Amino acid sequence: MYKLSSEPLLNAQQIDRRLESLAQELKACNFDVILSALTGSYIFTADLSRRIATPKLRIAFIKASSYGESDKPNAKVHISGLESLDIKGKRVLLIDDILDTGNTMKSLVEALADYKPASITTCVLLNKESRRVVDFHADFVGFDIEDKFVVGYGLDYANDYRTFPEVWALEEA
Ligand code: 5GP
Ligand code: MG
Repeated sequence: MYKLSSEPLLNAQQIDRRLESLAQELKACNFDVILSALTGSYIFTADLSRRIATPKLRIAFIKASSYGESDKPNAKVHISGLESLDIKGKRVLLIDDILDTGNTMKSLVEALADYKPASITTCVLLNKESRRVVDFHADFVGFDIEDKFVVGYGLDYANDYRTFPEVWALEEA
């Protein structure tokens, strides 16, 4: 059994402040399209994109799910939604909720390269550096966190807690 930590790991105000500075940096990069990896990054994507808010910035979504032994390097990542992407020659900002082993982001970047974007820049809300099993570093990171399983602000545990406005750690009850 699991329970939420007694205090949020990141409260709404901390997230707000960090997103504001992140958005200012990203705005300067002039991306053509934000590509968001569902489902965990839906809140982060919405909050970040409306702070960037440039007229020509497009939003697109893909879905990545890992299966098999997801903790191992070369874990299988299934990606859907690639067929309908229009990113050729575009400057893409790829967004995910959390960078853990790195398998998901690495697979996404490799798969997207086939569609010949002008560039792919990566951004994650959370980074668990100590969990990395493949060589991957995000270009932009919201917060570096310890090796804890976290929920809220889009992230779930068996589909629970996604809509919480804060990021919480799950602990054994
Ligand atoms: P990676 O492929 O880097 O190991 O994992 C990335 C994916 O695993 C994330 O997009 C997320 O869906 C899931 N994940 C990794 N760590 C956590 C966590 O602490 N909490 C939740 N809710 N999902 C996580
Ligand atoms: Mg995910």
